[in-house]
Amino acid sequence: KASVMDGDKFDYDEMADSIEKSKAKSESEALQAERKKLPIYTYRDELLQAVQDHQVLVIVGETGSGKTTQIPQYLHEAGYTKHGMIACTQPRRVAAMSVAARVAHELGVKLGHEVGYSIRFEDCTSDKTILKYMTDGMLLREFLGEPDLASYSVVMVDEAHERTLSTDILFALVKDISRFRPDLKLLISSATLDAEKFSDYFDSAPIFKIPGRRYPVEIHFTKAPEADYLDAAIVTALQIHVTQPPGDILIFLTGQEEIETAEEILKHRTRGLGTKIAELIICPIYANLPTELQAKIFEPTPEGARKVVLATNIAETSLTIDGIKYVIDPGFVKMKSYNPKTGMESLLVSPISKASAMQRAGRSGRTGPGKCFRLYTAYNYQNDLDDNTVPEIQRTNLTNVVLTLKSLGIHDLLHFEFMDPPPAEALLKALELLFALSALNKLGELTKVGRRMAEFPLDPMLSKMIVVSEKYKCSEDIISIAAMLSIGNSIFYRPKDKQVHADNARLNFHTGNVGDHIALLKVYNSWKETNYSTQWCYENYIQVRSMKRARDIRDQLAGLLERVEIELTTNTNDLDAIKKSITSGFFPHSAKLQKSGAYRTLKHAQTVHIHPSSGLAQILPRWVVYHELVLTTKEYMRQITELKPEWLLEIAPHYYQQKDVEDTSSKKMPRGEGRAVQHRSTDN
Ligand code: ADP
Ligand code: MG
Repeated sequence: KASVMDGDKFDYDEMADSIEKSKAKSESEALQAERKKLPIYTYRDELLQAVQDHQVLVIVGETGSGKTTQIPQYLHEAGYTKHGMIACTQPRRVAAMSVAARVAHELGVKLGHEVGYSIRFEDCTSDKTILKYMTDGMLLREFLGEPDLASYSVVMVDEAHERTLSTDILFALVKDISRFRPDLKLLISSATLDAEKFSDYFDSAPIFKIPGRRYPVEIHFTKAPEADYLDAAIVTALQIHVTQPPGDILIFLTGQEEIETAEEILKHRTRGLGTKIAELIICPIYANLPTELQAKIFEPTPEGARKVVLATNIAETSLTIDGIKYVIDPGFVKMKSYNPKTGMESLLVSPISKASAMQRAGRSGRTGPGKCFRLYTAYNYQNDLDDNTVPEIQRTNLTNVVLTLKSLGIHDLLHFEFMDPPPAEALLKALELLFALSALNKLGELTKVGRRMAEFPLDPMLSKMIVVSEKYKCSEDIISIAAMLSIGNSIFYRPKDKQVHADNARLNFHTGNVGDHIALLKVYNSWKETNYSTQWCYENYIQVRSMKRARDIRDQLAGLLERVEIELTTNTNDLDAIKKSITSGFFPHSAKLQKSGAYRTLKHAQTVHIHPSSGLAQILPRWVVYHELVLTTKEYMRQITELKPEWLLEIAPHYYQQKDVEDTSSKKMPRGEGRAVQHRSTDN
């Protein structure tokens, strides 16, 4: 009997196993068939030939033609991975992650094994990795450890048309190494047709065009300008849903907050539509969306339902979502702008360029004829939109890039081979700031401090704050603060129906008016004391996901501290030491209270305000140092710590003089700390 049982069991296992295998086989066959349907497939052999014949190749193909997912696979199949990895850079983290996941799936391997991705603070690769998707910023950092990129046989700078700062710097660096590494293949790929510029830059490299399949797109403009584009977008989406034939909708919005608002309103309004109307599935996608939810946008829409994708600019060319038939384009994007005179950088919602508008419209005509609803007038389009987006290098703070280039031994930045040079003023500003932070000496050479700073993948002011923490014996505390600051403003959770509770919970960490940096440290340490409890996060209105990310980042910063040989020490009994460390990195961001209740920055006399979310918003200390400025209705300082003016002379005597820190009205008014408690209020 036993043997029969054994036999049964054996048969059953084998059967289950073979069902599993044939399921996997048919899935993989389906995937392989899908790969062959992509426009690029027809040109596979021609493309491989061109790569073999030329060291540098510019590749142009419509979004969705298969450049990002297929080219690295083709090269792998052709044997290029025998001599090194294939790198494929993406301007956006989400794109790097999502595309790597897709390619791993197509190859039937586990993500992080043969196919992996690398983004800041997250390395999902292993010794096995041969196809590496990464942000352009990460490849830039790899030059620091491996100046000739010896581990790579191919570098594909993808989404070149985006012209991000890191991509622009990569152009120059990869061009340089290609001269002494004839075995290295260089691919520059772009979704736009004006590839001549890339070709010219790379010494007339040949252009390989992948003809796309394009269906006609009907473009509709609004008759009059829209006062509220978010509302107009929602109304348009609902109209499409109710009146138009099947097909998914893609709405371009400017950021997470806007997307969440739109999601909420759409959910609310579709509830009232009744059961006769098809289901509307709402799929948000933006940089900080948790990975599990990112995959949702690629799931096929069930029969009878309609999907509406609420996306940032990531859906313009970086990610292709199949099945989109309707595009709603409000005409805006969140964009960095930089004022080299004051050194101030801000993220502003700005009108898109004509090139962007064309790309957005194109997303609706990939699998069939589409429609694009532009929420601006034809007159606006013709007369107000620029032809092309200004490359980021011309509208951003360059401090970080200059520090990286200096660490790579590139000194003569004025003669660096930029595709489009940054404003000389912005370069000078960056050099000045790095000098002020003691990262460079008077000759513009990297100092020991600068070398240590460059090890950290952070803004130089944060890196300086960390490096200097050695002196103040508070490195452990400072990396916790740096990790928390790197998370941005998604630590605290403020549900609409529990705002008072949430605000009170938040203010608990501000007891003693310690300032926002120390409050963040307290949040981190309290969570650590509970052994990283999720329950504790719920009770304190703190986002557990953000905290886990902070912990990851902190662990990595701790590793880097070890690398630059800074001991881990904590000094929470001496808050002034911690504040001095912060000030040593951020002294250029000092501001002084004015009689009006506003602040004025010490160096550039700009009027700024304390952000209402700050624990010091009701306190108004006389002197403050801030982490960053955000421009909404006013120029707001976010994450603020009170400082003593004499610290500025002690820490940055080369930057501030006595007259900058003189407290002319100090005799009439007691200093900030004393007034603090009376002013405290929680009523808003
Ligand atoms: P390109 O880089 O030329 O814009 P891609 O290689 O990104 O094109 O896309 C090719 C195809 O792969 C598209 O049909 C797209 O929908 C699909 N694809 C890409 N990423 C994913 C993903 N994460 N999940 C499912 N499909 C994907
Ligand atoms: Mg792509």
